[in-house]
Amino acid sequence: MDNKKRDNKIPPTKNPLLIFLVLSIVATIALNFITSLMLSPKKEEISYNEFLKLVDKGKVDEVVFENDKITIYGKADKNKETDVSIFGIGFMGEDEPERPIYYTGYINDERILDKLDEKGIKYSTPVELNSPVLNFLMTWIVPLLFMYLIIILFSRMLSKKMGGSGGIMGIGQSNAKMYNVENKTGITFKDVAGQEEAKESLDEIVDFLHNPSKYTAIGAKQPKGALLVGPPGTGKTLLAKAVAGEANVPFFSLSGSEFVEMFVGVGASRVRDLFKQANAKAPCIIFIDEIDAIGKSRDNQMSTNDEREQTLNQLLSEMDGFDTSKGLVVLAATNRPEILDKALLRPGRFDRRIIVEKPDLKGREDILKVHIKNVKTAPDIDLHAMALATSGAVGADLANMVNEAALRAVRFKRNAVTQEDLMDSVEVIIAGKEKKDRILSKEEKRIVAFHEVGHALATALQKNTQPVQKITIVPRTMGALGYTMQMPDKEEKYLNSKNEILDQITVFLAGRAAEEIVFDTQTTGASNDIERATEMARSMITMYGMSDRFGLVGLESLQNRYLDGRTVANCSEETRTAIDNEVVDIMKKRYEVAKQLLTDNRDALDEISEFLIEKETITGDEFMEIFDNVRNSRNAQMEIEE
Ligand code: ADP
Ligand code: MG
Ligand code: ZN
Repeated sequence: MDNKKRDNKIPPTKNPLLIFLVLSIVATIALNFITSLMLSPKKEEISYNEFLKLVDKGKVDEVVFENDKITIYGKADKNKETDVSIFGIGFMGEDEPERPIYYTGYINDERILDKLDEKGIKYSTPVELNSPVLNFLMTWIVPLLFMYLIIILFSRMLSKKMGGSGGIMGIGQSNAKMYNVENKTGITFKDVAGQEEAKESLDEIVDFLHNPSKYTAIGAKQPKGALLVGPPGTGKTLLAKAVAGEANVPFFSLSGSEFVEMFVGVGASRVRDLFKQANAKAPCIIFIDEIDAIGKSRDNQMSTNDEREQTLNQLLSEMDGFDTSKGLVVLAATNRPEILDKALLRPGRFDRRIIVEKPDLKGREDILKVHIKNVKTAPDIDLHAMALATSGAVGADLANMVNEAALRAVRFKRNAVTQEDLMDSVEVIIAGKEKKDRILSKEEKRIVAFHEVGHALATALQKNTQPVQKITIVPRTMGALGYTMQMPDKEEKYLNSKNEILDQITVFLAGRAAEEIVFDTQTTGASNDIERATEMARSMITMYGMSDRFGLVGLESLQNRYLDGRTVANCSEETRTAIDNEVVDIMKKRYEVAKQLLTDNRDALDEISEFLIEKETITGDEFMEIFDNVRNSRNAQMEIEE
């Protein structure tokens, strides 16, 4: 990939110039003050009479008449010479001892010149040099300019040091990185797996970039911009690059989050500059990543941000201004489309929306195939099984898992990635690494084992659940002391029925139920189970219309569905209280169900738990084998009794 970075100049903004000016003035005043203190020799003020007396006594060497004062240079004191050269190093007056200097106010006295002539004393008045204009120039203007220059140079140096991101006060950042240009992204649609619909929508853009005249001949206008919308890590950035790669055009990219600048006007000028450069290179693609950082709705009363608004306005006007017939297409990506300014979404701007969803089972398998190509693998790897185990994972997760697997293979000194490596890396991404050094006490280990087997048994004993894949009580770095992995056996589900959700809640609560039945205790280990179960119960009531009491009323709505999926309540205080009560009801009922299931199968619970304590990790098959054995012998027992 040839990745050429470009630097662009920014016109300096007014603010910093003013600040520099003030700084220089202050510095000049300080400088003048200091020099007048340090450089001027000590002068002593005397009265005019004393001056006359000095002349009479012959102690005056030279007299200088100025506009308003008289400076008198006394005769050097020969005795003092030895004092000065004590150090042996030539100070200011080693061979010419210093003359004492006095001054006094000017008096229009005609006698004085005669007197000086009489005594043979030199006298003069300074020419030119003391003209007030020149004086002012020398003491103020010249140092001021000098200071100004130094400060600007200094700020440039600083901005270079800071990697060009901003510079001191936004000036002198000619080296700042404005945006990236890749002449060839080297990425094609083949590198993006499982986003068939998105690719289809983008195909037209690619075709247009290949051959704009085909469209303009009929008078068809291409959309100026397309917005890629989806959760993080689903491949939005990758898709944008692939469009450029497929069309074989340059790729200008710029990230919205880089717009946080100190001074107003920088973001806007970046946008202006970007479009100018891109226009010159058309056909090409401009990609604005994380556009929500600039494109946030402007009518947000809570916080106003001039910088962002200016940038947004600039972007809007650039989008209106450019001519699509040249083959310039603007792509943008966001995972928060709901907060974007409406003006960005209107026809003629980002009017086309391309959804980049989390991949489904087949999509995940395809993504894994793309990434597994980069590593050496054993011949028997089963990517389908891995895809089954990674429900909910996005492309970035999957890429990461393949890499983790490769790292694991290296750690075990193998030269190819095995299925075991792959499945282990899935767990590492989901639950964290095994934490072998965390030693649980014997008692804790027992509790964790019974808790996990409680989950697993509730799974096996109910119809609407996914089979157990693995149970382990090896602690993990992300906090779990043990866990039970469930996995669909062949297909992925897109719909969940009410019974499935209820059964799943029971499974979550069965961990605590086991603790309570066996040890008559309640531990903190169930907190995550409780949180997830409660969330499910609440969603059933407020969003899925599965409650008899409230029926099909939407009581909550999703706020940002591509990020954390937070919800906001759409109902009155009283209704919320009623919802809370209903959630408590559901949870209590399901907990009772869980306890009942485990009490009825106490023999299986005990037997499997003991086996797990011994082995620490057991597979779903081992689990089912013991479970079936226990059940069969129990049935045989019952037959004998009858
Ligand atoms: P987004 O911009 O949506 O947050 P990215 O495009 O930056 O996600 O994806 C990050 C990485 O994840 C990519 O570089 C790629 O390695 C991998 N990836 C994501 N989605 C896919 C996909 N559909 N196919 C192949 N790889 C993917
Ligand atoms: Mg991205
Ligand atoms: Zn649990």
